[in-house]
Order: sequence, then structure tokens, then C-alpha cells
Amino acid sequence: MAPTRLRARADYESLVDKYDTFLFDCDGVIWTGSTVIPGAPAALDLLRRRGKRLVFVTNNSAKSRQDYVQKFARLGIQAEADEIFSSAYATAVYLRDVVRFDTAKKAYVVGGSGVRHELEAVGISATGHADSALPIDLDSIRDVRADPDVGAVVCGLDYDISYRKLATAHVNLAENRDCLFIATNDDRTLPGGRYMYPGSGSLLQVLVHSTQRKPLVMGKPNAPMMECILQRFHLDPARTCMVGDRLDTDILFGISGGLSTLCVLSGVADEASILAPDAPQATYYTASLGDLAALAA
Ligand code: PLP
Ligand code: CA
Repeated sequence: MAPTRLRARADYESLVDKYDTFLFDCDGVIWTGSTVIPGAPAALDLLRRRGKRLVFVTNNSAKSRQDYVQKFARLGIQAEADEIFSSAYATAVYLRDVVRFDTAKKAYVVGGSGVRHELEAVGISATGHADSALPIDLDSIRDVRADPDVGAVVCGLDYDISYRKLATAHVNLAENRDCLFIATNDDRTLPGGRYMYPGSGSLLQVLVHSTQRKPLVMGKPNAPMMECILQRFHLDPARTCMVGDRLDTDILFGISGGLSTLCVLSGVADEASILAPDAPQATYYTASLGDLAALAA
């Protein structure tokens, strides 16, 4: 069925009545970079007052959940660490609970401090962050070795990506087939205001190509993130709605999990792409999360 555009107050009332839980993508729905989307805090407040459960689901692995709590507070939104599911946190939980990662081993991280801190919070030592500062050339490349204590290579967006880091990740994956290959997310692009930039999925492709190995990808639209969320919050998919701005991650994620979906126009997707017949079909769409705040008036 084609996505339904929400316009009238009655449309928003029936949306709110129909679901107990709303999963929110963050960038493009609640904020754009460091700027809050107008009306989003009021809409979230309204949903809380009506007793809805809110879960924030972001593919951005650059920050830890504690960093996100502070970001929400700075933007005037109350949110607790337990309500935040980032791809970095999902990766840490997956390694701890599903893989039962041997904590005598360590993870080599091509990614930022968000990934490192979440891994450390579940007792997994993370290495790799110091490597970007070290120079490398063909003579010193012999220093780059596989380490039998590396049990996983974890990739997220790495603003300090370097040849040494990629080479170290590569040799661990190529030399040790038991070394897990995990990506926080596979976003092809990164929304950066005026332009889209290469996302962590594009950086990941270097290692996919060089090792010819296939990573397990945690983030939206993939199943591991959904499984972690459904299990943790005991959600009923029929009473849960995923709100997002991106068809290839958020909306596909919701559809694959059997949820209803609401696509907003305040981020990546525009109306034409939402209505394209070959796009993942959102259940609903609307201009912005802020539209829901009108119900408070
Ligand atoms: N990954 C990174 C590194 C980002 O900076 C962003 C957005 O800022 C995303 C992913 C997408 O985040 P979200 O899933 O909240 O839209
Ligand atoms: Ca988004």
C-alpha cells in the first residue's frame, strides 16, 4: 500500500493511539547535526505524557550512550541512557550476550571513541585508537602484524582513519579466520548539511575488498539491532512504530522487523523518493516530528 500522508489533527491522534512504543531515528528526525528540529522536543514530551515508551535508535557510532544523554539534555530533551540504542552499543551488547566474546581477547577498532567506550563498558578491551598518529611507509609496514589476542575487528565511522589502522585490521582478518569481522553500521553516506559525505559503510568497503570477507553489520536496517531492541524491551511489533528520515536504513529496518513506519521529510528522504513504487514503503509520512506537537495545543 502507498504511504499515507498525515496532515490533519485526527491523523496524528490516531497515530498516537495506535502504538505503545515509538522507535526514533535521531539525525534527521530529532536533530540535524547539533541543531534540534523545531517542535521535536515538544512532540517527544507529548508522547511521554501520553504514556508511550520511547527508544532512540541511531546508526551513529561516534558517541557513547552517555554522550547522547548529554546531547539530548543540551537540546532540551529528557532521555535516559537505557532508552538509547546506538549501533556502537548494539555491537557491544551483541559481542557480550550473543557471541559471548572471550574477554581475555581484545577488539581492534577502526572507529571512534563511542565504539571504544561501549566495548569497554561491557568489559571488552579495545585497541587501535593510538594507531592513527603513527606514521607508516613501506619500510615500517613490517611493524604491522596480526595479533592472536585480537578476537574481533570492529568498524564504525573513523574520522582519523589511517593506512596503518586499515592495514592492521586487514592482517588480523586475513591471517586469522576466527577473528570476527563486525561493522557498527553500513551507511553509504553521512549527512553533513550542505553535502552528503562518505559514511562508515564506504570506509568498510576497503576491508571488504582487501580481505574478501563479509562483515556482520549491526545497525539499521539489519536484523541484529532489531533483535537486540525487541528482546530488551519485550516489544509487540504490532504496537510499535519506527520513525525515521531514511528509506534504506530506518524504514527498511522497521518493515523488516514487522513494525509500522513513519517517514519524516526533515532529513534525507523527500516526498518523491517516499512515493517511488520501488522504495521501501513507509506506512505513513509527514513533514516533521514537530507536527505531532500540534496535538498539545
Ligand atoms: N553515522 C554517523 C557517523 C553520523 O554522524 C550519522 C548522523 O549524524 C549517522 C550515522 C546517521 O545517524 P542516524 O541513524 O541517527 O540518522
Ligand atoms: Ca537519520
